[in-house]
Amino acid sequence: MAKIAVVSPHRGDAAFALGLSVKAWLEQGHAVEVVSCFTRSEFAPYSDVGSVHANDRVSFVTAVRKREDEAWRKQFGVAKLTITDLNLKDAPIRLHCRPEDVIGRSAEVSEKVLSKIRRALEGSRAEAVVLPLGLSGHVDHVTARDATLSILPADMPIAFYEELPFAASGAEGATETIVHARSLALQSELQSAFASESRQTDDAITEAVQRKRHAAWCYDSQIDEKVTTEIAEFCRRYRGRERLWVNTAWRLDRTLTPESS
Ligand SMILES: [Zn+2]
Repeated sequence: MAKIAVVSPHRGDAAFALGLSVKAWLEQGHAVEVVSCFTRSEFAPYSDVGSVHANDRVSFVTAVRKREDEAWRKQFGVAKLTITDLNLKDAPIRLHCRPEDVIGRSAEVSEKVLSKIRRALEGSRAEAVVLPLGLSGHVDHVTARDATLSILPADMPIAFYEELPFAASGAEGATETIVHARSLALQSELQSAFASESRQTDDAITEAVQRKRHAAWCYDSQIDEKVTTEIAEFCRRYRGRERLWVNTAWRLDRTLTPESS
């Protein structure tokens, strides 16, 4: 069984995009470590942050969001899912930009970002790494992605995930265009919540949607009911599964890609 590291630019990104996959990996006996990168933040629009003194907002929001990650981890009830906090500042604080200006900037891989991610991945002893595609163009996402890619050995099994809710608002085929533009020679794989489940019955799809909703709601300082529904319903597009984009090393690893798929 493998140790799988999941790079989550912010708290919640891994849970939104990979809640079903993480469940399946844990059930298959893998250990999963989520590396939450840019965790120091003032962004929590659905929290009480408005009533907190300006000087205390970062520590308030950072603590709220840490509890949200913890609530998600507890849904699995196992010690095999760990969350590592890199405690890096998110884009508005780190780059001194407005929250609406975080999209569409190129990656800013500083020494500090690179060394923290490198140390986390080395410490995790990961045998496979899962990282965001960077679909939204959020600078924290493309920075985490590019920093990770720059330090992984060429033969490392890698899978990219489709960030939510961004993937849900893109047109059909938009993700394929982005993946092909990056010429990473990736293939798509559909991952259900059940290690051994190959039939995607209507009941299984309904359960997957509920499971996604349950995970997303852990992060209710971040998203409202509408976005929670978008995140949950998106897996219907894949009949109750999540789509990963995997490299050849991942595909050839039989513990990661079972023979049947
Ligand atoms: Zn994010």
